[in-house]
Amino acid sequence: MKRSLVLIAAAVVAAACGSQEPAPTPAPAPAPTGGKIVKSEEEWKAQLSEEEYYVTREKGTERAFTGRYWDTKTPGVYHCVCCGTELFTSSTKFESGCGWPSFFEPADAKNVEYHEDRSLGMVRTEITCAKCDAHLGHVFDDGPPPTGKRYCINSASLRLEESTDEK
Ligand code: FE
Repeated sequence: MKRSLVLIAAAVVAAACGSQEPAPTPAPAPAPTGGKIVKSEEEWKAQLSEEEYYVTREKGTERAFTGRYWDTKTPGVYHCVCCGTELFTSSTKFESGCGWPSFFEPADAKNVEYHEDRSLGMVRTEITCAKCDAHLGHVFDDGPPPTGKRYCINSASLRLEESTDEK
């Protein structure tokens, strides 16, 4: 009798342990970023000026005719101010008269992304950096040949790397 009680007790303990054993939880996988650069607000604020942060990370717009590149004719490559990706070249820049740097095409089609923007009661196409999602500006269909496009870009989103020979 005593022996069977011990066996029963042992079986109960074993069963209880078995049912209470927590299932092993796998380490959480890092969130997929699709190869994008992802930083916290604080990290972006630390590396950008106030206006650069406002424009690129909060989809702001600099005032027309006030940005550092709206009237620039210096040859070179315009990089993303946030991540350095090549976005536009001076050879595609043209005088649009709108007060923002304007280009008829990106340096590389895969470096920019397009999003429908229905803010401010308009339907526009927003342009962002494909690498870091920085807001750049908008693209319109009233540009010059050969594309007929006008990429209207905030100076604050760009950093010009000057070159001696036209690219
Ligand atoms: Fe970028």
